[in-house]
Amino acid sequence: TAAIELIDLKKTYKASRKAPAKTALHGIDLTIPRGSIFGLLGPNGAGKSTAINILAGLVNKSSGTARIMGYDIERQTRQARASIGIVPQEIAMDVFFTPYDALELQAGYYGVPKSERRTMEILDALGLADKRDAYVRQLSGGMKRRLLIAKALVHNPPVLILDEPTAGVDIELRRQLWDYVQELHARGTTVILTTHYLEEAEALCDQIAIIHHGRIVANESKDTLLSRM
Ligand code: ADP
Ligand code: ADP
Repeated sequence: TAAIELIDLKKTYKASRKAPAKTALHGIDLTIPRGSIFGLLGPNGAGKSTAINILAGLVNKSSGTARIMGYDIERQTRQARASIGIVPQEIAMDVFFTPYDALELQAGYYGVPKSERRTMEILDALGLADKRDAYVRQLSGGMKRRLLIAKALVHNPPVLILDEPTAGVDIELRRQLWDYVQELHARGTTVILTTHYLEEAEALCDQIAIIHHGRIVANESKDTLLSRM
């Protein structure tokens, strides 16, 4: 089975006071193999977040199929959820918790038994071990980003999705985050990231799909894609 399988996936947002109805995904087909670092590349408004939010269970699809590690997100929701970790774009989070508590709480949400929790190991891997008892509001922006990644890993998901992981961060932190992503990949996690930086997809990904106006317009190995640019 593939890590992710999207079949004719469509999403139309209903009209609201703020915005007219909008079709964000026009029936996309996409297969992401296990073990890849996959880049979903496209300009703002292309539909990247919509696709991710559907996989995360935050947005309902209009039609089509989405599977995570073979589990249908609608019919096998519990297994699908357990198979994926999502690192959201926004940093807003539990500022009055410590990183340690934030991870423990997250593990609780996922129903990870105490005996199977790896809280210190994860904090350590993300370079946060010595901040375990600081308050989240005292952490630097870079540490908060790393804590977001840590939170997505508490249930040891085989698939990790990062939504614009380095939007608005400085070069140094960007390199640091890239290192963590590559490390996770080396340990066997299938990594999917959205970005609007070609440079980022080029540095990290082995396979890149380009989404534009809610359609997949290219889906190639990095080398093939770059040789045509
Ligand atoms: P409010 O607090 O005013 O209810 P929300 O953020 O909950 O605002 O969004 C209300 C509506 O605005 C949504 O139902 C949606 O139709 C529209 N909306 C939200 N985000 C976007 C977006 N990125 N692009 C277009 N419309 C959006
Ligand atoms: P990306 O992540 O690639 O920037 P999005 O998936 O956020 O793209 O948005 C795709 C399209 O759907 C955009 O035109 C956006 O304005 C619209 N959109 C996103 N969220 C909503 C919403 N809640 N209501 C209405 N339109 C939305």
